Amino acid sequence: MKIHILPPHLRQQIAAGEVIERPASIVKELIENGLDAGARQICIEVELAGRQLIRVTDDGAGIAPEDVALAFERFATSKIHEVRDIESIQTFGFRGEALPSIAAVSRVQLLTRPHGTELGVCARLEGGRLIGIREAGSPVGTSVEVRDLFYNTPVRRKFLRSLRVELSHIIGVFTTFAIAFPERAWSLICDGKALFELAPASYRERLLALYGQEVTAQLEAFDGEGLSGRVWGSLGRDPSLSRRSYRFFVNRRSVRNASVYRAAHAALGGGGILILFLEIAPELVDVNVHPAKREVRFRDEEGVYDLVASTLTRLLTSRSGVVGVAEREELYRPSPAMEAGELFQAVGQVENTFLLAAAHGHLYLVDQHAAHERVLYDRLLQAIAGAEPPRRHLIAPQVLVLASRELELLESHRSELETCGFVMEQFGPGAVAVRAIPEIIPARGVESFCRRLMQRLRDDTAERRVETVPQMIACLGAVKAGTALSLAEQQRLLRDWGHSHQLHACAHNRPVYFRISLDEVRRKIGRAAGSCDTWSPQA
Ligand code: ADP
Ligand code: MG
Repeated sequence: MKIHILPPHLRQQIAAGEVIERPASIVKELIENGLDAGARQICIEVELAGRQLIRVTDDGAGIAPEDVALAFERFATSKIHEVRDIESIQTFGFRGEALPSIAAVSRVQLLTRPHGTELGVCARLEGGRLIGIREAGSPVGTSVEVRDLFYNTPVRRKFLRSLRVELSHIIGVFTTFAIAFPERAWSLICDGKALFELAPASYRERLLALYGQEVTAQLEAFDGEGLSGRVWGSLGRDPSLSRRSYRFFVNRRSVRNASVYRAAHAALGGGGILILFLEIAPELVDVNVHPAKREVRFRDEEGVYDLVASTLTRLLTSRSGVVGVAEREELYRPSPAMEAGELFQAVGQVENTFLLAAAHGHLYLVDQHAAHERVLYDRLLQAIAGAEPPRRHLIAPQVLVLASRELELLESHRSELETCGFVMEQFGPGAVAVRAIPEIIPARGVESFCRRLMQRLRDDTAERRVETVPQMIACLGAVKAGTALSLAEQQRLLRDWGHSHQLHACAHNRPVYFRISLDEVRRKIGRAAGSCDTWSPQA
């Protein structure tokens, strides 16, 4: 991708600022550039905790020879082109700030070679000035060497802390990336000694390498999905651990965010280790809020709060987290709630997402969300067809404070919403009181439901999707993937779903289930006619 200088109107939209505070900030920026360049392997070398030398070497895409000098200009980037790109950033960098800021306060040498060129380029800069550039042999990738940090800004040099403190910041940056990118190889070499040499690994293996056996063994996995995205990670609740160690990643970027923190804190309270990954569509995340990109904002802060809080609470209350069938013994037992004439027999839940059910010589894997959505949608349509839609009157009205754009949206959908069972009225300027909701929506969580509905209405116009209001309501009201259900609840859901007219599709016409016939199972397993229980593969 070509590097170019961002035009002024784009620069103004960027939350720019000084990004180089200490050696660890340089390490962070250079690692991010390596990852953005698709590196599989990143090596970090430091001397005197980065004061004397920081060298970051990657095997990524490299920089085209004619672009090397440009890369050190302010606002020179290959990662965004127009305003729209800022709204859905998929790379770590986008401001074109790091290399010039680093070069301004140190002596830099960059050696790079892209694929398909014979020779690479070596460029040297001092205090931000290019003092030499020539062809040079280089492996494919990029190596940036930063020497004599703050040599020309003595005051900032004075503000550096002890070697031990600066090194611990560097190690913090290194481990953060190593956790978020376990499939890449990482090494950290300090004063010639390898502190970490990490080969590509699974997430779990990477935790083991970084935290050790004792801590990793205590970590429990969690995983939850909601409209806002997916959240997963590890939680360690050793009561002897008074220290709190939270790490939050949004689309693998290590960040802070007040909603995530509040949700984690509300669920966990005291100390412990929490490593939490959120996966969210980039257009729903604003990474352009903090100069060093350390903070993010979500378009639906509340949805993210709910998702994180409910996923963690579920883990804490059930201790089951993401369980396979095998981990929850009662799932094997036949359903106690099976009634005469019922179609499906609930067998259990897989990954808190699929219901396993038996019926008429078949095994069914039923998507719990899709099935529930179908049930709610049918009920809603039936209710709408009747004279008065069944509504649930709220004991206290739910007041929603809305932006004017949201009020407009609500107004334009008012009649459809009322047809579905909502009763709402203006409540002072900029607010709406919801007095009744469709009966299919549980009364608790009305506010969160209404907020999500607003979000859907907003997205709906933005993306010109053709989702109807009843479809939206059914989808938002339906149990989410990742929700643990008791066997009785599973049976009830299967019963309701079994009565619906269109078993095969959810409200959006996506498939709901997958089935295999038991005959096929028997055939595959070799339990066909004539087989016996002593049959073995060697026979
Ligand atoms: P940004 O990352 O915000 O684009 P930088 O100043 O960090 O700004 O880098 C400027 C440009 O130089 C990048 O957009 C990229 O094209 C190029 N670049 C920097 N580091 C690397 C690297 N390690 N590998 C490949 N290209 C790089
Ligand atoms: Mg960068």
